[in-house]
Amino acid sequence: MLGLYIHIPFCKSKCKYCGFFSISNFDTDIVKNYLHAIEKELSVYTDYLFDTIYIGGGTPSVLDYDELENLLKAIQKLNLKKLKEFTFEANPESIDETKIKILKDCGVSRISIGVQSLDNNVLQFLGRIHQVKDVYTCIYFLKKHNFNFNVDVIFDIPTVSYKKIYNTLTKLCDLNPNHISAYSYSYDTAFLSEYKGDMKSHLIEIVDFLKDRGYHRYEISNFAKKGYESLHNITYWKMGDFIGVGAAAHSMKNLKNCRVRYSHPAEVKRYIENSFCFDNIEIIRDEKEILLENLVFGLRLTSGVELEIFKKLDILDLLSYLIKKGYLENNEDRVCLTKKGTLFLDYVQEYLYSNS
Ligand code: SF4
Repeated sequence: MLGLYIHIPFCKSKCKYCGFFSISNFDTDIVKNYLHAIEKELSVYTDYLFDTIYIGGGTPSVLDYDELENLLKAIQKLNLKKLKEFTFEANPESIDETKIKILKDCGVSRISIGVQSLDNNVLQFLGRIHQVKDVYTCIYFLKKHNFNFNVDVIFDIPTVSYKKIYNTLTKLCDLNPNHISAYSYSYDTAFLSEYKGDMKSHLIEIVDFLKDRGYHRYEISNFAKKGYESLHNITYWKMGDFIGVGAAAHSMKNLKNCRVRYSHPAEVKRYIENSFCFDNIEIIRDEKEILLENLVFGLRLTSGVELEIFKKLDILDLLSYLIKKGYLENNEDRVCLTKKGTLFLDYVQEYLYSNS
């Protein structure tokens, strides 16, 4: 599988908890020049056969109609014969029916919406600029145009009760998305980490709730109806190949005897000046290091990893310890996190890294 990620680093304003690279002080000239640089970079990949494309951000839906069409036209010049999934990220306040039609006409197959909550007070606390009514309008048009869509939600928010999260999830499930990504505010972000010690995560309740509503958990933070798992993101967790286009975008390529990683600088101006400028080039030649990376990333998936990796790394003793602690389980030839283990993923990863 080969994925293509395109980063659109523009947001109308910055949310309080955001850890992504984006800017909110931009004008039409900056966007125009940035898209031109993207087009330039994409032009070297016209012979590549991508399996998945993901346009993320930032907020890709801030692009106006012409900008959106220009970006999608540049993508259509690629070889899309093998394309299986084409995702576009949108925020409820910046997408409308015209944009949805443009996306549909240009082959986008999946929309990921940054809903986060269906409570206006919670949205305000998070620093989001949309309101609940924008979510309903957006989903109304996505359904009208038969779009497969994901919704992002945030839980474990300081001062927000589980009842409010439960209400959001109940209303969201009634809207029938095919995929739900649920991120812990306090555990997945560094912001307000002082709350971490006092808070009990609601992750397990959420997993059980979504399971009852027909969404199976296939990755730590991701839930889907059968057949609607995100192929693009699975490529990341399985350490497959992907190319990142745009400022701050990362790429990874597995070659015969090594793994290569590199990224674009997280600077819009530099990217506009040179869309072939790369930073942080890393070449991993040590087979053990590659296997260890495959192991710690693979454990994010509920299908886990092959037992064989533990054997090759000669760390069956570490596996026994983590099984005894109740964090991992071994089902025939696969090893995966237990329910308890999903709450301690950081510990498990750190333990494997520092003792291998
Ligand atoms: S919309 Fe998304 S990318 Fe933009 S600031 Fe908010 S969380 Fe960050």
